[in-house]
This record gives sequence, C-alpha cells and structure tokens, in this order.
Amino acid sequence: MLTLLVTNSLRLLRDYMAEQVERQAAQIGPVLIAALVAPLAQRDYATVQAVLDESRAEHGIDYLVVVDAGGKTAASSGWGRDTQLPEADARFELIGQDGLARYDVVRPVTLAGQKLGTLHFGLDLAQIVAARRALLTQGVVIAVGELMMSIGLLTLLGYWLTRHLAALTRASEAVAAGNLTPAPVAEGDDDIGRLGAAFNAMSRAVSERIGDLTDARDAQSKLIAAVEQEHARMLSLLAAMDIGVLLVDPAQLVVYENPAYRRIWRIAGDATVVGRSWAEVFAAAGVGVRNAEPWRQSLAAANEQFEMMLDDERIVSQRFHAVNDLAGQPLGRLWLFEDVTEDRRLAQQLLAAKEAAEAGQRAKAMFLATMSHEIRTPMNGIIGMTDLALMTELNDEQSEYLRWVKSSAESLLTVLNDVLDFSKIDAGRLEMELVPFAPQDLLDEITGIYSSIAAQKGLVLDWRVTGNLPQRLVGDPARLRQVLTNLVSNALKFTEHGSVSISVNAEGIPTNGRQWIGFAVTDTGIGIAQDKLDHIFSPFSQADSSTTRRFGGTGLGLAIAARLVQLMGSQLAVDSEPGRGSTFHFGVIFSIVEANPNPVATPLPVAAAIAEARPVGRILLVEDTPVNQRLGQALLGKRGYQVSLAADGLEALAAFDRERFDLILMDMQMPNMDGLEATRRIRAREVAGERRIPIIALTANAMQSDRDLCQAAGMDDFVAKPFRADEMFAVIEKYLTAAG
Ligand code: ADP
Repeated sequence: MLTLLVTNSLRLLRDYMAEQVERQAAQIGPVLIAALVAPLAQRDYATVQAVLDESRAEHGIDYLVVVDAGGKTAASSGWGRDTQLPEADARFELIGQDGLARYDVVRPVTLAGQKLGTLHFGLDLAQIVAARRALLTQGVVIAVGELMMSIGLLTLLGYWLTRHLAALTRASEAVAAGNLTPAPVAEGDDDIGRLGAAFNAMSRAVSERIGDLTDARDAQSKLIAAVEQEHARMLSLLAAMDIGVLLVDPAQLVVYENPAYRRIWRIAGDATVVGRSWAEVFAAAGVGVRNAEPWRQSLAAANEQFEMMLDDERIVSQRFHAVNDLAGQPLGRLWLFEDVTEDRRLAQQLLAAKEAAEAGQRAKAMFLATMSHEIRTPMNGIIGMTDLALMTELNDEQSEYLRWVKSSAESLLTVLNDVLDFSKIDAGRLEMELVPFAPQDLLDEITGIYSSIAAQKGLVLDWRVTGNLPQRLVGDPARLRQVLTNLVSNALKFTEHGSVSISVNAEGIPTNGRQWIGFAVTDTGIGIAQDKLDHIFSPFSQADSSTTRRFGGTGLGLAIAARLVQLMGSQLAVDSEPGRGSTFHFGVIFSIVEANPNPVATPLPVAAAIAEARPVGRILLVEDTPVNQRLGQALLGKRGYQVSLAADGLEALAAFDRERFDLILMDMQMPNMDGLEATRRIRAREVAGERRIPIIALTANAMQSDRDLCQAAGMDDFVAKPFRADEMFAVIEKYLTAAG
C-alpha cells in the first residue's frame, strides 16, 4: 500500500512538474522570441547576447543559444559556441536521452513568416530531480519505519497473545524434562485460561499420583530392604546351624543346602548341589549309608524320621517336612540332618550307667530282702520261744533273765525294722495303706505300751483330745502308730521329770467326709538346742553325740517318722527349748468312716490270747526251719488247733492230697519247692465248687513285693516274721471264723 502511495505520488509529482516545465517553456519561449526578433532582424547580436544573458539570469534557464538563419551561433549564454547543441526533447523527460536532468526546447524565430533563426534553450530539472529523490527517500524511510514498527507491534501482540501458551509449553517441557510438579500456570475464563486450569488440575492429579507412587515405592523399597535383611539373617542362621538343611522342590531338584549339610555328607568343596536331583546329590556324597536298605524302605514308606548309620561310624538323624507357600501350594520338602553320634553315645553311656545303678539297686534290695529274711527267721524263734518259755514254770531269776532276752530281742527287732523301713522309704518302696481304724484305740494302745516305762521313770503319760475326734478314720494305722510310738519313746527317753502327753486336735470342721487332725507329743525333757533342730530329721543324726552313749539309739527314728508323715501328706515339725522340753507335731487329713460295723481287734498279750477259748481246726504248717516248726506247733497246739507239719512244698502237696485241712500256714522260702509254687499247685488241684482252703503266708520276707507275689500265687493273707502270737491268731481266726 505504501509503495503504491509513494509511486503514485511520484508519478503525480512528475506529471505536475512536467506540466509546470512545459508551461514555463511555453511562457518563456514567446517572451524570448519577442525580445529577440528585433535584434536578430537587425543582426544586432550584441543585443541578442544581452537578452540571452539577462533572461538566463532572470528565469533560471540552464543555457540559451540563438542560431541565425544561416545556422551560425548568433549568441550563446551558458553553452559553448562550439559545442553541439542537443536535440529538442520530444516530450518531458526528467532525465533526457543525454542523461541530463534538463528539458531541451528549440523554437524558430520568425518575422512575418520569415525564419530569422532558431532559439535553443534548456530548462534545469535538477531541483525537480532533487525533490523527487527527497520524496522517494522520505517515502522509503517512512515505509521502513512503519515496517519496523509493525514488526515490533506484531511481535509484542503475538507475545502478549501467546504468553499463557508459552507458560503452558514451558510447564509441559518441564514435565517432559522430569520435573513432575511444575509451578501452576495462569488460569482464566478464556480458552487458554481454561486450558491452564485443566493443565493445573492435570498437574495436581499427576503430582498426587506421583506422591502415591513415591510412597508406594518408598514402602516397597523399605519392604525389600526388610526382606533382604530377613533373608540375610535367615541365611546366616542357616549357615550357623549344626543341623544340615536341604530344600528340594516338587521336581526333586535341590533348591538350597546349608554348610552343615555339606559337612555332614562330606560333599567336596566345589561340588554343586543346587539344581541337581537330590538322589544324585546323595549318591555323590563323600560318605555312604551303612543301613541303606532300611533307609530306602523308610523313604519308600515316607517315614518322616530315620536314623542313618554312616560308613564313618557317625549316626545321622534324618527328618523331613513338607513345605508349602502361603497359598498352601507345595514348595517341596525340607530335609533336616543332624549328627546325633555324640547324643547317642551319651545316651548309651547314660543307659549303661542307669542299668548299672538299677542293678546296684536290685542288688541292694536283694541284699535287704535276704538280710531281713535271714535275721527275721531266728528272731521269730527267739521271741516266740522266749514267750513260750515264759509260760512254763520258772523261778524268779530265770523269768527275769528271759524277760531281758525278750526285751533285747524286741529292741533288736525295732532296730531291724527301722533299717528296713528306712531303706524302703529311701528306695521309694514304702506304700501307705488306707484302712479303717479307731484312733482312740490306737492312742490307748500306745499309752498302754509305754505306761510301765513312764511309771518306772516317775513320769506322767497321757493323751487328750480337743474337739470331736471321729470314732473311725481311714488311714494307715500301723504307720501312724509307728510315728507316734517313735515320738513318745523319744520323749520318754529324753525326759527325766514331768510328763509326756499326746494331744489330738480334732477341732477342724469335717468337709466332704474328710477332717484335719493334729497330733502333738509334748515332753518336759532336756529339749533340743536351736542349731540342732534342723538336723534331727536327717538320718543317723543325733542332737548330741554324747547322748548316744547316754540314751542309745540309731538316729533313724525321726528320719523315718518325718518321711512317714510326709507320705501321709504332712510335715513333721518341732518346737523345743533346751531344759524346758520339746513338742513334735504334725497334722493329717483323714477320711471319716460313718458307721462302725467291725470293731477293731485289739491285740491281746500272748498268754491271754492263747488262754482264750477258740474253735478248733486242722492246720497244716509248712515250715522248713526246725525252731520255727517247733514254735508254730507249740503256739498253735496251745491255742487248741491240730497241727500237721510239712518241711517243704512237696511235703505240703503230699499232705494236702492225703488229708483234709481247714487252713494252711505256708512259709515262702523252702528247699525243694517254695511256698509260692506249692500254693499255685494246691490251687490248681482244688476242685471247682469245693471249699477253697485258706492259705496264709508266714514269712520273713517282709517287703511289699513279697505280699504281691503271695497274692498272685493264690495266697489269702500274710503274716510277717517275726510275728506276735496274737497277730497270727487274729489272721488265722479271721478265716476259720468265716469258715466255721
Ligand atoms: P535316736 O534313735 O537316736 O533317738 P531319733 O532320730 O529318734 O534317733 O532322734 C534323733 C535325735 O533327736 C536324738 O538323738 C536326740 O538327740 C534328739 N531328740 C529326739 N527327740 C527328742 C526329744 N523329745 N527331746 C530331746 N531330744 C530329742
């Protein structure tokens, strides 16, 4: 547009200029011609010259030349006389053909139709050219300026219009470059603003998502680290284990083995195990299995545990467990191998030691049984015969001696019983009986036995009850008697003045048919020093070794009493003050027997027992020791029984076949055939439906195991030697009365 404008202006300017110049030429030509006609006609060339000079100066004409009719230059101003005159321009040209900015005009000078000459003049166009150039230059400058301005404005406008897009682009580029949380871009109501809002929303969503992902990734990396740590821990644990571990997948290929596995199976350092079949791995082990066949059978039977003997004498225990993943899918089998050689060796040693100890124990028990039997048999003779001798006509001296014999024998028997009891308790072989008994009778009996000793020492011996003592209790009266007897005899032994009393505390309220009953034996004797109190319950200990000589005793009595009380479920305790006396006490829970169907038999003195009239009967006494044969015959005969004798089991069988007896008293240990065998045979011969003959064991074998043996052989009861006559009669008459 600008170019068009400028071009048009230039054209108009040129046209206007041309018009002006042509008009000037048209005006100047006639004026000059008018002024020249006269001088020229007169050939007054000086005037012509003057006119030319004047006109040139006046009208700004480039040159003026007048040529006369003869073609000679009459006058010239601004043009050389000899210079060739230019042709007249046919039309207006800013730059003529001669390349000059000049308008050449030629006019004839005529007078009355006669040509006087020719006027040549040139109008200077330099100003017009300059004006045109200036116009052009200005136009170009303006055009360039406008162009520059337009470019600048358009650039600014473009920048302004696209600044949001640029921000968006930058943000997108930032995202592309890895900055996933770019600064928010401008938002607005226009399209770009909405695009910005959408971009921001997207950016927020992306950043949230990235946050989530980062958290998840962090958690995952923590998890991975934890798992790796756990894995490392597991591996070091497995590596440190003494137990060989082998994990085999379901395809029987080894997945893992630990160092202990390699050690146990002596697998070469470079041999690979993982990835091979386990059978192959076993085959390649550096040591073979000695009991291979049973091992294979155990594998075939899928036994989960097996002990292998290896070629190098080691014993390896093998176990396996099925291993499942969390979803319960089988992962394979975990084999565990443990070198148990040392354990087994120790166990064997232990077993050997235990067997040796048991053999020792058996030998001890055997020794005790033998000793007990061997001592009891003559003791039976001594006590029984002394009893019998005491019943004969004796002078005072003889009967005193015999009473001493009897008392010594009984002391000896006490010691013997103590030692036996103690070893039985020690071996854990003493069992408590649970039978009904009358506690009052028991207490009467004990005080009765010791009343004479107390009277001799001038001491008071009594028993008293507080509360309501039941008529009958269930317990082990023999053991209770033993404990109380022991305490009372000790009290009497260690008391010189005052009293010994048994207190029974029955104040407790019976619950569920059971009642706690406390027993205390109190004396006013020498007492026991505080520092000795703890020891007196230990076996073979005495408070004062000097008392041994003064009072006698083995130091076993309290140890046995304490253990018996323990077996009754209680604790024997003592309160004592030297010089003031002692109290031994304990409490036992007994079951109470409501009714009182069988009065408890009280033992009678021998003479009295024999003197009482009893039903007669035929008794077979099977006994090998002559003194006991004689004793039995004498005691039973005096009681009124008919007695037959058999010296061993064989004779007893013969007698059983030959005669009819009401009862058999059977010794256990006899030559030829012992009492157990004889009993078994008699029981075998008995005809069904006929009366079964009571067989009572009469034996010095005083252990519980002996009682059990007797019962198993078919015997009905048991009397231990040395027996008291009344005890024996009580047992015999239990059966004969029942029979009669
Ligand atoms: P021992 O057969 O020697 O009497 P015990 O085991 O019965 O053995 O008693 C151990 C010791 O306890 C006795 O030697 C005696 O020193 C002491 N002792 C026991 N009972 C009494 C008591 N009632 N008074 C004083 N000392 C006693």
